[in-house]
Amino acid sequence: MLRVDGLTVRYGRVAAVSAVDVEIADGEVLALLGPSGCGKSTLLRAVAGLEPADGGISWDGVDLGGVPVHRRGFGLVFQDGQLFPHRTVAGNVAFGLRMAGERKVAARVDELLDLVGLAGFGPRRVTELSGGEQQRVALARALAPRPRLLLLDEPLSALDRSLREHLAIDLSRLLRDSGTTALVVTHDHDEAFTLANRVAVMRAGQIVQTGTPNQVWRHPVDEDTARFLGCTSFVDATATNGIIHTPFGPTPFPLPNGPVRLGLRPTALNAAPGPTTGTITTTVHHRDHIRLTVQTPTLLVDATASIASTPAPTPHTQTPLSLNPDGLAIIG
Ligand code: ADP
Ligand code: MG
Repeated sequence: MLRVDGLTVRYGRVAAVSAVDVEIADGEVLALLGPSGCGKSTLLRAVAGLEPADGGISWDGVDLGGVPVHRRGFGLVFQDGQLFPHRTVAGNVAFGLRMAGERKVAARVDELLDLVGLAGFGPRRVTELSGGEQQRVALARALAPRPRLLLLDEPLSALDRSLREHLAIDLSRLLRDSGTTALVVTHDHDEAFTLANRVAVMRAGQIVQTGTPNQVWRHPVDEDTARFLGCTSFVDATATNGIIHTPFGPTPFPLPNGPVRLGLRPTALNAAPGPTTGTITTTVHHRDHIRLTVQTPTLLVDATASIASTPAPTPHTQTPLSLNPDGLAIIG
């Protein structure tokens, strides 16, 4: 088990990571999720031993303070695989194995290439691979020496969108199947939720919330976190007997009775018959929906319309709005 205790990393007078506590249980995949510049990579690098830090980092109770990078038993994968360009695929995967004194190198290389879906790629030059294939090689290389913790820093960010979604699912399955304990850093919530059992949300050098993907998505700890997780407007509402009463009408939601603060994602309001109407101010076409901004009597909100809507939504016209509880977050 990894344990990070009051970890602080300073660059000059500025703390890029500030008094962070976090634990990763054996077999768990923890995603560190936050906007660019919030300190995710710095925290990962400190755990790896690549960045001097104050505070404790331990594995199964053993302090890693004086332990150099290559003796921590951690594997590393970065955004751009950082493969050795003059080695073959097999040569790259074998690299850490020779360092670790493994004897059956060829068999282990084949096993890993199989695991990442690159069986038979061993003799190829890494410069002849696609970006996605290179990341698979980087992953095989990191996993080959059986690290007790795998550290992944934005492993899919350099890839194009469709490949990224596809590889995230593959990577998630691979981590589960191999029982790998991992810390994965990402700014992309979809990626975090696909990969991780547990998500730690980071902002300005601190972890502001930790929970399952569902907890974090449904119950962001504050409005800034909710905004980072896609909420674009906020309203007060009241819960009574499993129904929340909102400015956009009532909707079922399992909550104890009392006042609640709601975050609305654009999908919380659909341009469909409902109790509220508003005036469309802008429309933006996306691949599978139309995003609207709508001025209601009380609030400017984002909403979603179907691309099949007839007539097509246009600015300065009225639209009804219906509430979809799937797009809601409960703040706090
Ligand atoms: P993230 O990975 O979340 O995008 P980083 O950990 O890379 O964020 O950076 C956190 C903050 O620390 C940023 O403000 C960044 O500019 C600063 N920083 C990162 N590395 C260094 C460095 N080597 N020297 C000085 N400042 C740095
Ligand atoms: Mg980073």
